[in-house]
Amino acid sequence: MKAELLYEGKAKKVYRSSTDSEKLVLAYKNDATAFNGKKKESFPGKGRLNNEISSLIFPYLHNHGIRSHFIKRLNETEQLVLETEIIPLEVVVRNLATGSITKRLGFKEKTPFNPALIELFYKNDELDDPLINDDHALLLTDITLAELREIKVKALEINTVLREFFYTSNLTLVDFKLEFGRLPDGRIVLSDEISPDTCRLWDLETNAKMDKDVFRQGTGDLVTVYEQLLQRLEARV
Ligand code: UDP
Repeated sequence: MKAELLYEGKAKKVYRSSTDSEKLVLAYKNDATAFNGKKKESFPGKGRLNNEISSLIFPYLHNHGIRSHFIKRLNETEQLVLETEIIPLEVVVRNLATGSITKRLGFKEKTPFNPALIELFYKNDELDDPLINDDHALLLTDITLAELREIKVKALEINTVLREFFYTSNLTLVDFKLEFGRLPDGRIVLSDEISPDTCRLWDLETNAKMDKDVFRQGTGDLVTVYEQLLQRLEARV
């Protein structure tokens, strides 16, 4: 598809749809980055796998009442989405402590959070995506207090739906990152991707990692693991 490139990020390229100017095409890349881009490698097949996995998850969320930018998967590596203006917040939801929160606050690995813990990070590469509080979010973005509350309620709803989704594939949803965007009419919807790049998923019985941590920690072959994950998710439907 010949279309205008609007933006290239670490994991995706964003084009304006050539057939419908209100829609965007997300093209998933094979690049994997970690530690805010300090570790980088290309994995043939990763773009297809994340596109396919994300394209299973968004319709599932939609069927459970979660509105998003997702319209449909177009081909192996691309999906069609509604144009939104991304709110520069990374909304992280945690069910178990691992990763940055264990280092930052000293939580013991696997400490359960019930209710799930929400953290906000300011999406800004130059600043290394710092942790921020609600007051910072109101100053740094155009969202209102009511919208911030709405985003948090939505993030917890998404957690409930996704936990069940992954549980039926014998996976624990440990934590994940969401991004929200504003539609031209002002409403805020779930945007970006949901994939093993943005979620931590552990095998229910063995706790084996089935997400980008295998690349971050150099403990496994990313494409093999993502392929196994896709097969598990496809087997559940
Ligand atoms: N995450 C993400 N993008 C980021 C940072 C984090 O998708 O830029 C996801 C990550 O995959 C994990 C969750 O958010 O599922 C929490 O990540 P954490 O804050 O523990 O960061 P990390 O330990 O990966 O630096």
